[in-house]
Amino acid sequence: MAQNLQGKVALVTGASRGIGRATALALASEGAAIVVNYASSSSAAAEVVSQIETNGGRAIALKANVANSDEVDQLIAKTMEKFGRIDVLVNNAGITRDTLLLRMKLEDWQAVIDLNLTGVFLCTRAASKIMLKQKSGRIINITSVAGQMGNAGQSNYSASKAGVIGFTKTVARELAPRAITVNAVAPGFITTDMTDGLKSDPILQMIPLARYGQPEEVAGMIQFLASSPAAAYITGQIFNVDGGMVMA
Ligand code: NAP
Repeated sequence: MAQNLQGKVALVTGASRGIGRATALALASEGAAIVVNYASSSSAAAEVVSQIETNGGRAIALKANVANSDEVDQLIAKTMEKFGRIDVLVNNAGITRDTLLLRMKLEDWQAVIDLNLTGVFLCTRAASKIMLKQKSGRIINITSVAGQMGNAGQSNYSASKAGVIGFTKTVARELAPRAITVNAVAPGFITTDMTDGLKSDPILQMIPLARYGQPEEVAGMIQFLASSPAAAYITGQIFNVDGGMVMA
């Protein structure tokens, strides 16, 4: 297989588990050195690093709460110290705090917006400074079908993910003159810790392909956008990997 990211560096936020983990492995298979960011699962992050190394790749695990501006600055500084460049940023870290609007506490709202939206802003602002100097880069933001069609019980999450879509389109326009592409991937219902315990017949009936997705299926789209020469002319777009849940 062609290794399109040989000599390149990819930072994946929330890469200890789920979609981020699958993305880290997929980008490593393209030859990129990987920064495996995580918030608290240090042994899971170390396992991702060791799997990449076993496959002959290079990786480092870096703990940082990407909702925190100082920790993001540290994350970027340590990435530069270790690998000297950033070619790919995947803004994947995300949480849910689901409850109906009338029961939602301000802290449930704030925690989700802080990580899922402000975290994307902080990481993109910091990494794009480096990409602007390099005059190249690929940024992939993970949004959700919930940001496109809404989902009862997820007003905080849907708002954060809809925000990511608007952010993606605006930043794509701002960074395009320096050949930096910015796209978003919108997963549907993917089997990870986040959706553990949420599977139900009514959800399955909303999926035309009649099954839940796997993290590797989302990672495949991210890998294409991050590494393929064929993706160089694609920016400001939202790609659904959702079994057909949303058909625009
Ligand atoms: P997951 O299995 O729950 O994993 C979440 C990841 O985010 C973990 O690596 C976690 O690190 C990390 N994380 C959590 N808080 C963080 C913080 N403050 N700073 C840095 N990292 C943090 O989630 P997932 O299902 O793979 O979801 C990944 C992304 O896809 C999210 O943005 C989610 O909204 C989106 N998405 C998921 C689905 C789905 O069906 N699963 C659907 C649509 C969109 P620790 O291990 O250290 O906690």
